[in-house]
Amino acid sequence: MGMARPRPDRLTAMHEVATGVHRLGRKRHNFYVVVEGGRVTVVDAGGCNELGLLVDGLTTLGMPLDAVEAIVVTHAHTDHIGFAAEASRQGIAVKVHEAEAAFARDHSAGTQVATGDLPLWRPHVILFLAEMVRAGAQRAMPVPGVETVRDGEVLDLPGRPRVVATPGHTAGHAAYFLPERHVLFSGDALVTLDVTTGTPGPRLLPDVFHGDVVQARRSLEQLAALDARLLLPGHGAPWHGPIAEAVRAALG
Ligand SMILES: [Zn+2]
Ligand SMILES: [Zn+2]
Repeated sequence: MGMARPRPDRLTAMHEVATGVHRLGRKRHNFYVVVEGGRVTVVDAGGCNELGLLVDGLTTLGMPLDAVEAIVVTHAHTDHIGFAAEASRQGIAVKVHEAEAAFARDHSAGTQVATGDLPLWRPHVILFLAEMVRAGAQRAMPVPGVETVRDGEVLDLPGRPRVVATPGHTAGHAAYFLPERHVLFSGDALVTLDVTTGTPGPRLLPDVFHGDVVQARRSLEQLAALDARLLLPGHGAPWHGPIAEAVRAALG
């Protein structure tokens, strides 16, 4: 009996969730690839161990990492900005909302989720934290060269993402909306999985995850106004339907 060879993790495989839009990540957290005309926008950057997932995913599409024009980051938590530092060193532009830039450049400048405040007796919390460690999300990787975007700005990138400022989860959280494809990348402003219980469906993350819960709820109004029919969150499965319906469910 030799050493077991590492098996490919089926959960890390890339899935096309809409034409030219691919979901990457693992079971409990996501990042995305938008392909247009042979060029790529990446939405969020997983944990710092996950650049390889992106490279492997692009390889299955027959594309090199060089095809990535930019990584747009919803917020600077370590499970969303993880490999952006490494990509930035390799010359890829990394963009974040202007109110999140200080946090992206220096992790001590933002609100972290206090792991000690999570209900650690819950199996789903342990599974989530284990996934975070595997992704490298226990380590903060600052992105000194991060570029900033503004609310309402339409980015000259594949998919023409529009910035939708959605503060609350963090001070400078932004969602990204693809109007032509009716797709919304909602980051942690609106998710479809309660990572502490495993319960699926559109919702806010539990209060402990948000810097400002009142503001997080208020920001959902910005999302409800969009003509989005596919919700692609930072945590949880894709959700099909009018975004206003997802927001109603989240506000309970
Ligand atoms: Zn977050
Ligand atoms: Zn997250």
